[in-house]
Amino acid sequence: MSFIDNILQKPSYGWKNEKGELVIPSTRELFTEALNRVNVFKSRKNWISMISWFMIVCMIPFIVLFVAKHFSWPLFICAAVYSLIIMGTHGTIWFHRYCTHKSYKFSHPVWRFFTQNLVIKTFPEEIYVLSHHVHHAKSDLPGDPYNSNGGLLYCMLSDVNHQSIARDLSEKDYYKAAGLLAHTGVQTNSYKGYQEWGSVATPSYTILLWVLNWAFWYAAFYLLGGHALACALFSSAMLWFIFVRAFNYTGHGKGEKMHVDGLDFDRSNLSINQTRPGLFTGEWHNNHHLYPGSARAGFLPYQLDLAWIFIFSMYKMKLVSSYHDSKKEFLQKYQSNRNA
Ligand SMILES: [Zn+2]
Ligand SMILES: [Zn+2]
Repeated sequence: MSFIDNILQKPSYGWKNEKGELVIPSTRELFTEALNRVNVFKSRKNWISMISWFMIVCMIPFIVLFVAKHFSWPLFICAAVYSLIIMGTHGTIWFHRYCTHKSYKFSHPVWRFFTQNLVIKTFPEEIYVLSHHVHHAKSDLPGDPYNSNGGLLYCMLSDVNHQSIARDLSEKDYYKAAGLLAHTGVQTNSYKGYQEWGSVATPSYTILLWVLNWAFWYAAFYLLGGHALACALFSSAMLWFIFVRAFNYTGHGKGEKMHVDGLDFDRSNLSINQTRPGLFTGEWHNNHHLYPGSARAGFLPYQLDLAWIFIFSMYKMKLVSSYHDSKKEFLQKYQSNRNA
């Protein structure tokens, strides 16, 4: 078994059966697993999964206040833009292209911190990053943490059910896993700390960053537009945080082969280029599977890539020192044949 096979904590229902086929758990099994995984009374090592869900619970008062007290259509539009475009594009820039794929480098750690905190904090980085490496290594195969063949709920609950680090890694493997986050600025545990807390990130760093980030953004939004704007945008961050999980399902064709000729060139997995996530957040997911290390994923003329525009602007402003762009390679390989 290789490192990538062992890095994530196996769910109680397993990844595959004796025949090597994907185990598709029942709704009940999925919810039971999720409740076990966030139960900190059972094991303190569940803390990071618990935090991920607890953040959503902490956002409920904002959405209640927004709907009951502060609702207006202009604020609704602000919330929609914040959720669909700003949070989404930030997810691509930070969690996806930087933290996981290292497709660009910051010129100074201060710009990394700035980028990390450009929006309301949601996922602890390790939940996204470790599992996303596995997703690329095993796309649509058993072991893929958000295997679209497992169904919508399999993907929706994957952040707690399938994305936490294994609890029994050797010291060597733990440091290899922690190394995947070394460039992100996240404060990481020693092996002893990992054995105690079951996570790469330290609880103090994770919680302090979360509290400071939320305090900053609430104050900033309050100064701009009172409690009404702050509640609207925190509600919108919550909706993004919940529904981004569905992207892992739809972005891989809901478990079906939905590739379109002349659009989806990578046929080695079920990923597809979808218009809305593409135009709004730069997630041209089939292109991305072809060139995961590229800081740009919009390759064809109409494939707007806001995340790339942002990264390239940071480069022009010298906040980013270098980036990797695979557009040329893509065009040479997939477009010259078409024109020939
Ligand atoms: Zn994918
Ligand atoms: Zn990726």
